[in-house]
Amino acid sequence: MVNVGVLALQGSVIEHVKILSGIEGVIPCEVRTVEELDKVSGLILPGGESTTIGKLLKDFEMAEPIKHRVKAGMPVWGTCAGMILMAKKIVDEDNTHLELMDITVRRNAYGSQLDSFSVSSNIPSVSDDSIPMVFIRAPWVECIGSDVEVLAELDGRIVAVKESNMLATSFHPELSANNAFHKYFVKMIENNR
Ligand code: GLN
Repeated sequence: MVNVGVLALQGSVIEHVKILSGIEGVIPCEVRTVEELDKVSGLILPGGESTTIGKLLKDFEMAEPIKHRVKAGMPVWGTCAGMILMAKKIVDEDNTHLELMDITVRRNAYGSQLDSFSVSSNIPSVSDDSIPMVFIRAPWVECIGSDVEVLAELDGRIVAVKESNMLATSFHPELSANNAFHKYFVKMIENNR
């Protein structure tokens, strides 16, 4: 069995927990404290409001312990706001959060005209079947470092990336019935153990 954590300070926590609980061999764990972080072998940073989660990470003194675990190899996956938390740079903002991944993201990139939408796309490295992608005031990735692999693009914009033990998606796989991305992340954790 593998303990998969979901950072549970704000955002779409329950949705990730539900999808994880349907995957054989996985125990979903909500993570709010260092003690809870110590028990998991991988961590999901959910969607929500990156400014709020970033602030709570500091208030709960969780930013440094998470950075430490990820730098020591623990797999981490950020969805939407979670992707923003992981980015080393945010376009037009001085504020950054965990600064783990060599990506520059643009917040609310799909902003006002298209607040939320859903499309399906083939992401061959993740699944043989087409994957639904739900975007909610989503960021896109504007630049990547040389070690970052692009997993998915939408209309020429990068929306899913991987760098070593780190995965980030602009969209919300936990808001569809398809668990391919969660299985992909669990495989990253199993390969790491
Ligand atoms: N727009 C949010 C932010 O900037 C992210 C939205 C989401 O996670 N669905 O943090």
